[in-house]
Amino acid sequence: MISIFKVTINAKVIMFIEDAEEIEIYGKKTSKAEVLIADSTKACILTVWGENIKEIKVNESYNFANVSTRKFNEEIKVTTTPRTTINNIAPLENVVEDKSISLKKFSEFVGLILAVSILVTKKCSCCFKTIPETEIGKTITKCIHCSMKQKTSSLSTTIQARINFQCESTTTRLTLFEGPLKVFLTKRNQTQLLQTPEDLEDYLLSQQQLKLLCNNDVIQEISPM
Ligand SMILES: [Zn+2]
Repeated sequence: MISIFKVTINAKVIMFIEDAEEIEIYGKKTSKAEVLIADSTKACILTVWGENIKEIKVNESYNFANVSTRKFNEEIKVTTTPRTTINNIAPLENVVEDKSISLKKFSEFVGLILAVSILVTKKCSCCFKTIPETEIGKTITKCIHCSMKQKTSSLSTTIQARINFQCESTTTRLTLFEGPLKVFLTKRNQTQLLQTPEDLEDYLLSQQQLKLLCNNDVIQEISPM
């Protein structure tokens, strides 16, 4: 259902759908913006991360090198990656200014969780990068990324779920981050399940029909029908 490619595209920035906002990913703060871009064949949404946001302006055309694209529900989504470079090019003419795409940002799925896997990761308390699993059992670990030594008890924990969701006759692979998962569990007084991944998986699988609000393949909101 989802296929990911690294590509280089030339496109014009039509509009900012979502201005830059600070978000937290794996305990690390970064900024994210969504823009509508287009070339002569189609328009699509580009998610822009961090420093790349400052590099783009509406109505300008750019060469976006090393962006990743994925097809999701017949729609193409593009996102910048740490290796993306953005360079101004001559203005593109006759681009497809289909602004209706920006309204289809969120998709709703109603269906059942077919399979689920909870992933618990430990992050360095200094650089917030992932600490290898083999280090977790130790009392003290030296971060392989930033070389800071620290007690493993001070590492921060993040939880996310991979979910195969059946909606009508198709199965979609989705990601559920800790934020929306916590909201879902809090409403049901089940936050203690965050401590026991196995039980949390069982609990999610035991749910009846659910309604999901998704942005690409990321679940924003999960609620019972
Ligand atoms: Zn570190």
